[in-house]
Amino acid sequence: MTDTPPVRTTRPRQVRPATEGWSQKKDAEGRPLLQFASPKRGKPPVHLADMTPAERVAKVTELGLPGFRAKQIAAHYFSRYTSDPAAMTDLPAAGREELVGGLLPPLLTEVRRLQTDGGDTIKFLWKLHDGALVESVLMRYPGRITLCVSSQAGCGMNCPFCATGQAGLTRNMSAAEIVDQIVRANAVIAAGELGGKKSTDHSLERVSNIVFMGMGEPLANYARVMQAVRVMVAKQPEGLGMSARGITVSTVGLVPAITKLANEDIPVTFALSLHAPDDTLRDELIPVNSRWKVDEALDAARGYFERTGRRVSIEYALIKDMNDHGWRADLLAEKLNARGRGWVHVNPIPLNPTPGSIWTASDRDVQNEFVRRLNAAGIPTTLRDTRGKEIDGACGQLVATADDERAAAGA
Ligand code: SF4
Repeated sequence: MTDTPPVRTTRPRQVRPATEGWSQKKDAEGRPLLQFASPKRGKPPVHLADMTPAERVAKVTELGLPGFRAKQIAAHYFSRYTSDPAAMTDLPAAGREELVGGLLPPLLTEVRRLQTDGGDTIKFLWKLHDGALVESVLMRYPGRITLCVSSQAGCGMNCPFCATGQAGLTRNMSAAEIVDQIVRANAVIAAGELGGKKSTDHSLERVSNIVFMGMGEPLANYARVMQAVRVMVAKQPEGLGMSARGITVSTVGLVPAITKLANEDIPVTFALSLHAPDDTLRDELIPVNSRWKVDEALDAARGYFERTGRRVSIEYALIKDMNDHGWRADLLAEKLNARGRGWVHVNPIPLNPTPGSIWTASDRDVQNEFVRRLNAAGIPTTLRDTRGKEIDGACGQLVATADDERAAAGA
C-alpha cells in the first residue's frame, strides 16, 4: 500500500489546502493549534436534560415536592415540547413557577431563522445564556425529518476550510443545550412551521434523525454528548424515545474517543470525516491528523464496526483538484478493503461551486469517476445530498456572521 500517486508523465494538478481571508492559529511548533479543553466560561444553568432520572427526583424532592413530579415535568418537556409553567396544569399552582424554573431554565434564545423557498429546510441561530452563538439545521426528507445539531460553540480542530473553526473553541455545550435544539425543533414542527408537506396535521411529526454535524467536534465534548444521546434514546417520558440508529455521531478522528464510543451500549451510527486517504494531504486538511493518522482513524472505525455491528460511514467532501483524484479513490478503496468487506460505506459530499476559491466543487465527471472507482472496488458509495448549503447551513460552514452577531445583540 502506498500513500503517493502513481508515477506518470503528467502529474494531476494538486491544489494544497490553505485558509482564505483568515490565518490559522499556530502552536509553539508552528503547527495549526488544536484546542481540546474547553475554555472556562460561565456554565449554563443545570437543566432536567443534564440529569439522570434519579437526579431529577432528588432535585424535585429538594424543592419540597414528591418525586413523581419529576416525571410529569419531563413529560411536558420531552413529549409536549414546553417549558412554560402555565401549560402544566397538572402541577399544583402553588410553587409551580419555582419548580419548573428550577428544572427547565431557558437555554436557547432564537435569534434568527432562515428558511429555504420550499420551506423544507430551516436554519436556526441560537444565543446561549452567555451570548455564545450556535446553529442547527432542520431538514425534511421523504419519510424522515433530520436535525443537524451543534455540540460546541466554535470548534478547536482548526480545519482550514471550516468557518466554524476560525474563531477557535468558545466552549463546550451542555447536554441540555444539545437536547434543547431538538425539543425546540420539535415544537416548530408541531406548530406546522416546517414546510414541504401537504398534510396539515403536524401533531404527530417530530425529528426522527440527528446528525452531529453542526458546530463543534462532538467527540471533543464526549461526556456531554453522550449524556445528550442517552436522553435522546431514553423512552418517554424520561427522554425523547428516539432510535439510536437514527443518531449519527461524526468525528474528524479522535481515536481514543472512537474506541470509547464503540464500548458504549448505544449503537449510534458512526461517521468518520476523512476527506483524504493519504497523510500528506490529510495533515494539512484536518490538523488533528497530526495526532492520529489516517490508518489509526480507519483502524478505530473498523473497531467500531466490530464492536457494534453497525456499518461505518466515511464522509469525503470532494474538493476540486485537492482530494478528488482518481488515485485517491483507489487508495481509499484499498485501505478500506484491507480492513475487510461489508463494514463501511463512503459518502462523497459535493461542495457548492465557489468561483475564485480553492474550496470549490469538483467537476461533475470527476465526482462520478471518484464514485465509480470506489463502487468498482466493492465499496458501497453514494453521493450525499447537500441540502442546507443554499442557506449556508451545511456541515463545516456553520458560523456566526457579523450579521448574526448584530441580530443576537438585539435578541
Ligand atoms: S470541520 Fe468540523 S472539526 Fe473541523 S473545524 Fe469545522 S467544525 Fe471543527
